[in-house]
Amino acid sequence: MDSKVRVRFAPSPTGGLHIGGVRTVLFNYLFAKHHQGEFILRIEDTDQSRFVAGAEEYILDTLKWCGLSPNESPVHGGEYGPYRQSERKAIYHEYAQKLIQEGHAYYAFDTSQDLEEKRKEVPNFQYSRAHRMEMKNSISLSQKEVAELLAQKTPYVIRIKIPDAEQVHFVDMIRGEVSFDASTVDDKVLLKADGMPTYHLAVVVDDYLMKITHAFRGEEWLPSAPVHILLWKYLFGLDKMPQWAHLPLILKPEGSGKLSKRDGERLGFPVFAMDWQDPKTQEQTIGFRERGFLPEAFVNLLAMLGWNNGTEQEIFSLDELIEQFSIDRVHKAGAKFDYEKAKWFNQQWIQKTDNEILAHLVKPYLDAAQIEVHEWEYLVKVIGWVKERCHLLPDFVTQSAFYFKAPETIDTASIQSKWNTDKQDFFIALANDYEKFISSHESSVESSTDFPKDAISLETHFKNLAAERPIKLGELLLAFRIMLVGGKFGPGVFEIVEAIELKDAMQRIRTSLSLLSTN
Ligand code: GLU
Repeated sequence: MDSKVRVRFAPSPTGGLHIGGVRTVLFNYLFAKHHQGEFILRIEDTDQSRFVAGAEEYILDTLKWCGLSPNESPVHGGEYGPYRQSERKAIYHEYAQKLIQEGHAYYAFDTSQDLEEKRKEVPNFQYSRAHRMEMKNSISLSQKEVAELLAQKTPYVIRIKIPDAEQVHFVDMIRGEVSFDASTVDDKVLLKADGMPTYHLAVVVDDYLMKITHAFRGEEWLPSAPVHILLWKYLFGLDKMPQWAHLPLILKPEGSGKLSKRDGERLGFPVFAMDWQDPKTQEQTIGFRERGFLPEAFVNLLAMLGWNNGTEQEIFSLDELIEQFSIDRVHKAGAKFDYEKAKWFNQQWIQKTDNEILAHLVKPYLDAAQIEVHEWEYLVKVIGWVKERCHLLPDFVTQSAFYFKAPETIDTASIQSKWNTDKQDFFIALANDYEKFISSHESSVESSTDFPKDAISLETHFKNLAAERPIKLGELLLAFRIMLVGGKFGPGVFEIVEAIELKDAMQRIRTSLSLLSTN
């Protein structure tokens, strides 16, 4: 690349961040870092009616959680600031004036009532070439009338004058050559009556002033591209324009239509990066972070929604993604979202994550479930024993609770039907043996070496005890598991006994025996 790569993520602070938005951040970031470039966060808050308090902080927190830190932003600063469009208001006026002077834009004095009436009169009314002359603007009115209206401080907006017949084209990095018939677009408002620019003017001016070289954004912005291209042409010249990449949509699991917040609610999975509470409606939307996703997994799964490196590889760290990312491998078609696959990514990342780090992440979930951890080292070991079975961080609670306390419910129902006195006698003997081992250990240090403590000798002891009896070993093992953990899950039974130790194991056997009946 000739000049330094500079990309931007330019969200409007209107609420929580949809995963499509985070993927846009990610592709911007990967492209920038791959080319040793800069990643800028610009807050597009010119639409005051859609402004939502807390949304900017939420965006910054999301980027932080994902490890996608901007080089320049409203909080990181930078030499091209301010990075909030609402603080750049004066800049846009100058460009709007230039467009008016050069005949590419005009004042429109129509009141909302005028527009309302026109909409009633003309079905599918568009403020465009077809109706411009019927409206109250600096093209339809005389110079004198316009001067008077301006002198009287009549409220106005500034609209772009879309040319009559012009093909607008550009080369999109993902889609290739894209062309539009400009006359299909309406005369968009560029500067509003409140003096704020609209997105169309602000995005072009800021991409220019901030020296943006490549602009990645969602496919939903493609219809606005002709307006932006025309503004680039009129204001700065097309040779200065960034290269565009319109990213394909993230689709509903069924495969058609954009994945929406409602789909998440309908199907029970998150669509936002982190929990979001709408300050106006108090509506709560769940996030990937709070569902127990690791940021590494979240970033990895987003990267795979629309990109691959040409091999079967699916697990990538952020550094690997930076190294391997290439825009040529971004798909044109939308990517179907699959929550089960998302959980698989998280499970893979849980396996890759150090147990000590996981312990810090899991501890709050255990605290919330009122599971007391007395020894940090023990927690770290438990994490290692159960992590293979965990897809989400809260899974650690169900998978590991029995290591810390006796199960609250014991699924005796699933063994009761085959329960008999032989089995009962076996477990009475087992508990008695454990009791014997414990007291022999307490009374004499020497004999303690003989009693089984490790999983292998505990298993040998169990099997020897079972061998004398007419019972199937498999049934005994299943019953033992249920007594220890409460259900049919968990790692090896004797590893569990080793971890919780004989005293707890003995008590759990006796508790279960009291719940089972032999008739
Ligand atoms: N402000 C637009 C949004 O909210 C940004 C679109 C763009 O990146 O050009 O998504």
